[in-house]
Amino acid sequence: MSRVERVARVRARMEAIGVDALLLSLGADLPWLTGYEAMPLERLTMLVLPADGDATLVVPRLEAPRVQHDPGLFRLRPWSETEDPVQVVAELVGARPRLAVSDRTWATFVLQLQASLRGVSWQAASVVTGPLRAVKDPEEVAALRRAAAAADRVAAALVAGEVRLVGRTEADVAADLHARLRAEGHDRINFVIVGSGPNSASPHHEPGPRIIGEGEAVVCDFGGTVDGYCSDTTRTVFTGLPPAEFRDLYAAVQRAQASAVEAAVVGTPCEDIDGVARRVIEEAGYGPQFVHRTGHGIGLEEHEDPYLVGGNCDPLVAGHAFSIEPGIYVDGRWGTRIEDIVVATGAGPESLNTVSHDLAVVA
Ligand code: ZN
Ligand code: ZN
Ligand code: ZN
Repeated sequence: MSRVERVARVRARMEAIGVDALLLSLGADLPWLTGYEAMPLERLTMLVLPADGDATLVVPRLEAPRVQHDPGLFRLRPWSETEDPVQVVAELVGARPRLAVSDRTWATFVLQLQASLRGVSWQAASVVTGPLRAVKDPEEVAALRRAAAAADRVAAALVAGEVRLVGRTEADVAADLHARLRAEGHDRINFVIVGSGPNSASPHHEPGPRIIGEGEAVVCDFGGTVDGYCSDTTRTVFTGLPPAEFRDLYAAVQRAQASAVEAAVVGTPCEDIDGVARRVIEEAGYGPQFVHRTGHGIGLEEHEDPYLVGGNCDPLVAGHAFSIEPGIYVDGRWGTRIEDIVVATGAGPESLNTVSHDLAVVA
């Protein structure tokens, strides 16, 4: 879908929900619409997109050369060091009373804008952009597929035992995975989690100096960016022969993950997919140890709409891309998670990650 089409869809949705001007700063909405990503700086960058007029990108003069300016999409309004960019934005907004501002805009700018623009209403820009960005067009799905394939080549090496674990620190293994993700084509690495032994029970464990031993669960969760779109996958491996208790726990997560993928059919409420995974894990006796939602949308951001979580009744739409990543975490002992990125299509759910889910015994 062209950027012009995206802008047209955004305007239509602004019209439908009653937003007179959209103000985009940090975050993924701006690059999604214009191809330009604002730097997270103390200088304000902001696209002012009125429902009824031309869009203008207010940008620090020194950053203007980095803007790929498409005059069909927006006007460029560089501001110099002695100007007040909040004033520039306020003038472009004019008398429009219903505004939506990027969720990630620095509070300092939101507060200054609120002081300048009196008697207006504010919403988060994601109210406008969230449902639109959640539905990926074919080029976006292709980019997600390339990112998933790059991550899969690393996951495949991991489960094949090509990444040595025993005797190395978590941090060392994380650096190894980081380098492999780069080598497989990621432009940027967003995160690498390596949780071994008792640390595998902490879902977002920060890899540290712990040396990985024999007979341990190791949760490896990593992701990066290819052409702007994110990968995110998790495999749990075991160093040495897993005891029966761990095999049972792992099998429950494996069943939960597969059942949730199967349930990810267009039209199904997001919370029902979470419910499917949760029921399997509850029946295995580990309900309280599944401490997070089943999944999150993914695209230009690692976590975005739609969220597969209790309370989200929105139905899946063809083009929704999201993780399915149930886990069980037994405090102080061990944990397991299996995560793939899935796209909802008219022909059913498609897993972009395809590395085996069978429990890999590695060294
Ligand atoms: Zn996570
Ligand atoms: Zn992950
Ligand atoms: Zn994830």
